[in-house]
Amino acid sequence: MSERPQPVRSLPPGGTVGILGGGQLGRMLAMAAARLGFRSHIYCPDADRPAADVAAACRAAPYEDEASLAAFAAAVSVVTYEFENVPEATARYLAARVPVWPPPVALAVAQDRLREKSFLTDAGVDTAPFAAIDAAADLPAALRAVGLPAVIKTRRFGYDGKGQAYVADAAQAAEALAALGGGGVLIEGFVTFAREISVIVARGADGAARCYEPVWNVHENHVLARSIVPSGIPAAVAEAAKDIALRIAERLDYVGVMGIEMFLATGDSGPRLFVNEMAPRVHNSGHWTLDACVVSQFEQHIRAICGWPLGTVERHSDAVMANLLGDAVDGWAELAQRPDVAVHIYGKSGAAPGRKMGHVTRLYPRGSNPCTSPLQP
Ligand code: AMP
Repeated sequence: MSERPQPVRSLPPGGTVGILGGGQLGRMLAMAAARLGFRSHIYCPDADRPAADVAAACRAAPYEDEASLAAFAAAVSVVTYEFENVPEATARYLAARVPVWPPPVALAVAQDRLREKSFLTDAGVDTAPFAAIDAAADLPAALRAVGLPAVIKTRRFGYDGKGQAYVADAAQAAEALAALGGGGVLIEGFVTFAREISVIVARGADGAARCYEPVWNVHENHVLARSIVPSGIPAAVAEAAKDIALRIAERLDYVGVMGIEMFLATGDSGPRLFVNEMAPRVHNSGHWTLDACVVSQFEQHIRAICGWPLGTVERHSDAVMANLLGDAVDGWAELAQRPDVAVHIYGKSGAAPGRKMGHVTRLYPRGSNPCTSPLQP
């Protein structure tokens, strides 16, 4: 997996960071870059580009437009991405011209759930049992391999529960498979978890790596609703979760920040962690670090890709981060009146239902988060 196209030298302030993708993650990366004295240049095919509002320049062009990519590469000192569905070919085209971090192989692994799960298994990391289904004829054997209930997921372009179906029996599985196109999917055994957690890991160009404390993630309708820190999980499990994240980052020879989502199952044989997904970018479940830590995940990512030393991952406060989905963002005036809440609004043009429009982080002195509840092993 090792891939290190060009050595990274520390980029001094004044340099320009290129960001593929123009969403809220790019926006918060550009703001963190600005704090360290960098300019940001966004590359994004979409019309709605909240990152462009806070960047020095924005190029609106398709990811396949080589002339635009070459001009972008010539204008920046390093390229990163805020979106894991940037085509791998785009990242490789740029990597031949300018350092690209995280390494393009991380995109290739994360874009295909089958490749991702196989990579994790090879790394010795537990996942839900899984099997590929290329055609309807593969279903019976796949069901025998993973058991029921199960979740059928498209291999590519699924996120926030899109392109997936929970199935309780073989008939439902056949129906869901047909609805998802009849093949090219993955089936996973359903994990009965006690808590969903994630680890934000940062790895520098020199191979030094650090993890923020794991957080407890609460999903609603398959979308992250809240992240709570401390997570309430036992200290030994938190250490095990960090070790898994470090192992994944190391194996990819990763540079930058990555979010690793995990299920924590408890049972007679003790707690067990299963990795669900890895995102080769800054992650929604790390937004709390903007307000509860001296160095946020966004700054940490910019430090890593610019060859700077990583900053501290310590937090000074407990936190609850809540996403503002759809028209919840209309409550900004009331939220802004609360002295203990940090408000972040992404400047998107339309509040479609469920769309991530902003987030709020409520801070508490350490040790006093009323939303944390210790997980009973
Ligand atoms: P994903 O798109 O894979 O992140 O899945 C979205 C959400 O669906 C996860 O955060 C879980 O809440 C749930 N989920 C996905 N896969 C499984 C599984 N194998 N077992 C239990 N819950 C799952």
